Amino acid sequence: MRDKHHLLLPEIGGQGIKRLAAAKVVVVGAGGLGCPILAYLGAAGVGHLTIIDGDEVETSNLQRQILYTEADVGRPKAIAAARRLRAQHSGIEVRPVPQMLTAENGLSLIEGADLIVEGIDRIAGRHLINRLSREAKIPLLSSAASRFEGQVTLFDPSDANSACYACLVPEDAEEDGLCDRDGVLGPVVGAVGSLAAIETIKFLCDVQPILSGHMLTADLRTGEVRRVGLPRDPGCSVCGG
Ligand SMILES: [Zn+2]
Repeated sequence: MRDKHHLLLPEIGGQGIKRLAAAKVVVVGAGGLGCPILAYLGAAGVGHLTIIDGDEVETSNLQRQILYTEADVGRPKAIAAARRLRAQHSGIEVRPVPQMLTAENGLSLIEGADLIVEGIDRIAGRHLINRLSREAKIPLLSSAASRFEGQVTLFDPSDANSACYACLVPEDAEEDGLCDRDGVLGPVVGAVGSLAAIETIKFLCDVQPILSGHMLTADLRTGEVRRVGLPRDPGCSVCGG
């Protein structure tokens, strides 16, 4: 039986497996973080996955983007990732969207989702997703990694104590910590993406404490993983006032 090891967990059990099967999750970014996130959400039986990514697989991605093979180079990541997930898990519905998420298509693509999960590497894109999440009142699980480090957090518009991405990084901030510029150790995105998948499953199954109002920070060179409070900024340009 596929779900035996989740069934054995009192925090998940039959109820959790049903919740996962009914869940609608939109994953933005099918790169280094998106690959392990998607692999574990698919394997956990998350029933409805939308994969949004406008990029194609490049040879330099294969160091860390574990859903892809050499034969996928040149293919849209959303299509290649969906094909891989469907082959592994025939019981789930996977919708690939081989486009960039934009202000124009964003709200219709996330409509009806229980959760947005993002693992992209551009600050401007994160701010766009943050605004869409606030507008649609859909929680946003955000993850980032570069070098040996990563962060995971949950921005929940329905939680008055939850910060939003703009509380953390002002909208006029410069791009920082990009994998393309700074590099990243392959398994670091695997570890951070796995932390994001864990928090996603906890959120969907209501396994407390969920991460809302907090951030996991991982320094995988020293091996330190910490959970720190992430207060709202009352002067935030998106959620303040
Ligand atoms: Zn804010």
